Amino acid sequence: MRSPLAPQWLTFPDNTPALNPKIFSSGVARDDDQVTIQGIPVTELVERFGSPLWVIDENDFRARARAYVDDFNTAFGSLCGGVDVYYASKALLTVQVASWIREEGLRIDTASGGEMALAMRAGIEPAHIGLHGNNKSDGELHTAITKRIGRIVVDSLAELHRVAHMAAKLETPANVMLRLTPGVDASTHHHIATAHEDQKFGLSITPAPDAQTSVAYQAAHIAAEASHINFVGLHSHIGSQIFDSQGFEAAATRMLEFIAVLADENIHIEELDIGGGYGIAYTEADDPAAPAVIANNLARHLSAETDRLNIPCPRISIEPGRSIAGPAGLTIYTVGTTKTVWVEHAGVHHPRRYVAVDGGMSDNPRPVLYDADYTAVLANRVSDAEPVLSRVVGKHCESGDIVVNTVYLPEDTDHGDLLVVPATGAYGHAMSSNYNMLTRPAIVAIKDGAAREIIRRETIDDLFAREVDL
Ligand SMILES: *Cc1c(COP(=O)(O)O)cnc(C)c1O
Repeated sequence: MRSPLAPQWLTFPDNTPALNPKIFSSGVARDDDQVTIQGIPVTELVERFGSPLWVIDENDFRARARAYVDDFNTAFGSLCGGVDVYYASKALLTVQVASWIREEGLRIDTASGGEMALAMRAGIEPAHIGLHGNNKSDGELHTAITKRIGRIVVDSLAELHRVAHMAAKLETPANVMLRLTPGVDASTHHHIATAHEDQKFGLSITPAPDAQTSVAYQAAHIAAEASHINFVGLHSHIGSQIFDSQGFEAAATRMLEFIAVLADENIHIEELDIGGGYGIAYTEADDPAAPAVIANNLARHLSAETDRLNIPCPRISIEPGRSIAGPAGLTIYTVGTTKTVWVEHAGVHHPRRYVAVDGGMSDNPRPVLYDADYTAVLANRVSDAEPVLSRVVGKHCESGDIVVNTVYLPEDTDHGDLLVVPATGAYGHAMSSNYNMLTRPAIVAIKDGAAREIIRRETIDDLFAREVDL
């Protein structure tokens, strides 16, 4: 029965809900009553690799990565001198994943010495690596300059001075891109919006009340004139989980207007990075535009705006992360305990079933960080029991340890059943922890119907590995 505790968007499902292709990776299907990934049943995966388990549909991941390169280059054609795609590696990064990115023709964004080291370990050439971050250490900058990383995305005037000084001292040119805040309010959760004024990232293009020029303007002049800076271009990233092209277009306009100002002063910007943040469907409520649609809108917009401003269109780069890794991944959990609580709504008490699984906020902190919604399906069997309003929770010592906030699951879902939570490929493993001393799951990649571990499951011994005085 439909529950008044459920949000409006949640539809009441059939007994055996179809696997929504908008949310599940292309290799996921239901065969012989079980959910399968590229033909491999979830029960077989759990027998071989344990539970909980992160699964990456490698063919799907590669296809999404390749589609960004193809769709954007097709949409832009010869316009703006083409498009480079940088995979935002913070979404999901292992040496294997980085080599898929390299093999599919993408470049890579990193935001720490660790991510940079891993990218190089995967054989990505330094010229194809970007280094982000609002607070890079001297060590990170030193590595980026001496390894000749393709772009150090400088985030503040203070950092620009440090880079100029270090590069001069090392007598090695630093490739510098400037990250600007175009002052666009992306419509997304405030913890993942990054282009309004009152947040920590970037150089503002709006002058301070007591100043004639903006810090972005000052930085552009410093970068253009410094002896050991190779000024590569400008960058903006408006946020994450953005569903259409409007925010990107507004940001691009602000950036191009700024580029036109610089052009009048004989500073020519050759590359414009418009960031990442393309949204994905976590639940049926989400309706992100396809990358090809966004690419076409952006190409049209950039072409019109550069004509209007009478400037050449700079080479474009983009930085998708979530939209490549997210939909390609899913998590398999085993159900442990269930219980029903009664919740008052408009004076009437309604049941909500709590279904506890063997992971939680240690393998996916997004619900607790951003109130993120997910969905789940019973995966090891089908059931003709009545769907009941359920909340899938983890096993951690926090009441906010929620995996799926609202979902209808069959009433007989019980101990030993397997649940699949789709769209967990991005920011799950990447943000995972050992909270409550849980050992982190393995990551299994499935390619052409064959499954292999790319990250092994953590062991109890791993938990002791950094203890000094054992
Ligand atoms: C996080 C981030 C991205 C990627 O965001 P997604 O939502 O994963 O696409 C791209 N660029 C920068 C600078 C970022 O910080």
